[in-house]
Amino acid sequence: GAVNPSPTLLSSSSPAARVFSSTSTPITATLFPGDGIGPEIAESVKQIFREAEVPIEWEEHYVGEQIDPRTQSFLTWESLESVRRNKVGLKGPMATPIGKGHRSLNLTLRKELNLYANVRPCYSLPGYKTRYDDVDLITIRENTEGEYSGLEHQVVRGVVESLKIITRQASLRVAEYAFHYAKAHGRERVSAIHKANIMQKTDGLFLKCCREVAEKYPDIKYEEVVIDNCCMMLVKNPALFDVLVMPNLYGDIISDLCAGLIGGLGLTPSCNIGEGGIALAEAVHGSAPDIAGKNLANPTALLLSAVTMLRHLELHDKADRIQDAILKTIAEGKYRTADLGGKSTTTDFTQAICDHL
Ligand code: NAD
Repeated sequence: GAVNPSPTLLSSSSPAARVFSSTSTPITATLFPGDGIGPEIAESVKQIFREAEVPIEWEEHYVGEQIDPRTQSFLTWESLESVRRNKVGLKGPMATPIGKGHRSLNLTLRKELNLYANVRPCYSLPGYKTRYDDVDLITIRENTEGEYSGLEHQVVRGVVESLKIITRQASLRVAEYAFHYAKAHGRERVSAIHKANIMQKTDGLFLKCCREVAEKYPDIKYEEVVIDNCCMMLVKNPALFDVLVMPNLYGDIISDLCAGLIGGLGLTPSCNIGEGGIALAEAVHGSAPDIAGKNLANPTALLLSAVTMLRHLELHDKADRIQDAILKTIAEGKYRTADLGGKSTTTDFTQAICDHL
């Protein structure tokens, strides 16, 4: 039987699944293996997709050789065009130098492809014990502006300025996505997370937009929670929340906190939703340089991200099959990677999932 505790994990609002026969043309999806542990965990996804006979052909793009003047980053124009053409893709983590260097590849991707909402489901995994067994949260992060606008400069020596941009257009768009998501997935409540007591103009505008959208969805409960209080409440009792929508930086932080509630960054998937129906799935975690190249990474987060991609494509039978195999492998406990207290390598854990398909 299925062990999916959250049938709503980015599942489609329409239950109709696409039916593929062996003669159907495969779907082309873009794949960026990324940096650090990226290539190792991308290899797991490819192996499991092959074994599960998922009708997807990967169009693989490596980034990071030299700066492309059209993107001003190591991300090439061709790789962006690939996502625009295929409308669906999977990306591994991309490293960004701290405090200096080129523009973040992740930021470039989000801006160029207008990936306006980042959906981060987080739920307790059956059989993997943490302090909580009832986590079932969806963080929806505004993905294009806020503190991530890249507008930083030195005013005078010893004084720097970073601009936080909030626009009505981006706030309405992400709020609309959050309420639409809640409605389509049978969720009861949307909480807008903010610090409008201090960031009166920026977070104030964000909240105003959320309220406007909330009025259009009378069946969904709406509340506003200050970010610091939200952190405390999440740690005390995560069941207090359902769908959370928030500006960019808060979403980055809160979703790592949520990952910690269920066992860590090796487990949490996400999907970037863009204009024109683009879906680019990625794990919440980064390139994990401390364990890169050692066959130690947990591929679950990227795998579950790939599952969200399959759901977006309405390949629900394949998505269910892979998701069940991952959850069964973890629940059984014989093969687990080190982050979950086990001794398995990435490749052994991947093989165990294949054996559960
Ligand atoms: P990180 O997420 O890479 O690592 C944090 C900790 O979690 C490390 O101890 C790491 O070993 C562990 N971890 C992460 N993923 C794991 C997995 N799949 N299996 C087992 N353990 C895992 O965060 P960081 O160290 O702050 O960032 C490293 C680099 O990644 C930076 O350059 C950062 O900019 C980048 N980054 C990229 C993305 C992205 O591409 N979306 C997201 C976050 C960070």
